[in-house]
Amino acid sequence: MASIAENIFRTGQQIAGAAQACGRAPEAVTLLAVSKTQSAATVQEAYAAGQRDFGENYVQEALDKIAALPLPGLVWHFIGPLQSNKTRDIASHFDWVHSVDRLKIATRLNEQRPAGMAPLNVCIQVNISEEDSKSGVALADVNALCEALQGLPNLRLRGLMAIPAPCDDPALQRAVYAPLTALLRQLQTRYAGMDTLSIGMSADFAAAIAEGSTIVRVGTAIFGARH
Ligand SMILES: *Cc1c(COP(=O)(O)O)cnc(C)c1O
Repeated sequence: MASIAENIFRTGQQIAGAAQACGRAPEAVTLLAVSKTQSAATVQEAYAAGQRDFGENYVQEALDKIAALPLPGLVWHFIGPLQSNKTRDIASHFDWVHSVDRLKIATRLNEQRPAGMAPLNVCIQVNISEEDSKSGVALADVNALCEALQGLPNLRLRGLMAIPAPCDDPALQRAVYAPLTALLRQLQTRYAGMDTLSIGMSADFAAAIAEGSTIVRVGTAIFGARH
């Protein structure tokens, strides 16, 4: 079995290859290592291999790891479902939140971001796979939420995120992401600072990079299957 360092290296090479294949700079795509269910020791191993951005889905598990790993340069991204009673912990301990899907949650994150910390980077999670209507904002409602976020000074709206239904066909993977890319381009003409498209996981990051991904969220390909 390959080591975590080898997996990070290989994934980095694959990201660079996918970027170059469509005329993009490899540095334009950030590898976010999704460390949910992995131990602090495992995160530290990835850190030792040079990995800096980590994605977590479960607040308490993440807080334990964040406290255990006071390492310079670590960037913590919250990518899981957001509950109102967890927003204070998230606002206090994370650098990014990818899964903002309603104004009520955004308002709480804005109010609870501690004074003296940089604004919290946020992405709006968009529902691009119609069969799963539970997660994310409908494409048609994204602009209104962007507009509302302009009034929240402790949040920095960076872009859009999506989790499509699994699919094996690279052409279809791209087609599902295409409306999101188009929407981001429109929003960029209206709102400053929207430079982020958080799309692509272990099974589809090459297609996502071809569609303009700037952050790929990769778990299994780095850490192996979750148990
Ligand atoms: C678990 C998870 C990932 C990583 O998925 P893999 O298929 O293991 O790469 C990415 N994004 C989100 C939101 C996740 O919950």
